[in-house]
Amino acid sequence: MAVVGVLALQGSYNEHMAALRRIGVRGVEVRKPEQLLGVDSLIIPGGESTTMAKLANYHNMFPALREFVGGGKPVWGTCAGLIFLANKAVGIKTGGQELVGGLDCTVHRNFFGSQLQSFETELSVPKLAEKEGGNDTCRGVFIRAPAILEVGSDVEVLADCPVPANRPSITISSGDGAEEEVYSKDRVIVAVRQGNILATAFHPELTSDSRWHRYFLGMDKESHAKAFSALSLSSSS
Ligand code: GLN
Repeated sequence: MAVVGVLALQGSYNEHMAALRRIGVRGVEVRKPEQLLGVDSLIIPGGESTTMAKLANYHNMFPALREFVGGGKPVWGTCAGLIFLANKAVGIKTGGQELVGGLDCTVHRNFFGSQLQSFETELSVPKLAEKEGGNDTCRGVFIRAPAILEVGSDVEVLADCPVPANRPSITISSGDGAEEEVYSKDRVIVAVRQGNILATAFHPELTSDSRWHRYFLGMDKESHAKAFSALSLSSSS
């Protein structure tokens, strides 16, 4: 049975572990680089991305996390986990922040504002219905949530949502000096997939809807099927 690692440095890792238990999957809390060797896929939970980055640095996790993402095993970042996986994050106040990267997108760390602007909304996600049947809506729980401002051409957009009217205007500063920009579109991207990487700006682990966790497990099966067909192609040639 596939073993799903859950990065357990900070944030909502308990909730992901519980969500995995609910669907009968074994989750393993990951706190050390070598533990990544024993898992088939990895969830990076929501929390506070600067704190998580400091802890990841302290435990020397970044090289192993980058290797894991680059190695092609499925990785899912929720909220702060999405920020971790982005190649570029803006809206980070002091001194920048180390990222794992791998996901070709630009994320705004607090796009929707502060804790007070946290909200819930219905999202339309056709991919969930495609896999599972039933309707394509799901509840999105956004807590001090990031959003994806831009994606590269290999990134598939799974969901977007209207930009709330009460969102504070955003100032984008890119590490070396202030550069300002206001997001002017009326919708913003909140869930994407790029190959082995899944990322959501919201928190499916805080709802009783298991479809996102099952979708993620399906990515593990896909990667095994790919590895198997590559193996059988090479052995038959
Ligand atoms: N915006 C938060 C951050 O910067 C993430 C919030 C969350 O994970 N719920 O880390």
